[in-house]
Amino acid sequence: MQSVTVSSCECPVCHLVLNGATRAKGKKVMPQEGDLTVCLYCASPLVFGTGLVLRRLRKQELSGPIVDDLERCVALVKMAR
Ligand SMILES: [Zn+2]
Repeated sequence: MQSVTVSSCECPVCHLVLNGATRAKGKKVMPQEGDLTVCLYCASPLVFGTGLVLRRLRKQELSGPIVDDLERCVALVKMAR
């Protein structure tokens, strides 16, 4: 896993500032609008919104195979804290 630096943005849940992103698998890439992420501090599932500003994930956005991947990421972040 390789991290990239992104513009500083406040987590909408715990309000701590995040400025990096790490892709769970694959090569190093900048996140895009609509990509899912997990806050490193509070393990909340989030979405990169317009301008890569983080926002809470809406329940209706949780569907399909991505749910299992996201739940694994949340569990990993919780274990790492
Ligand atoms: Zn947070």
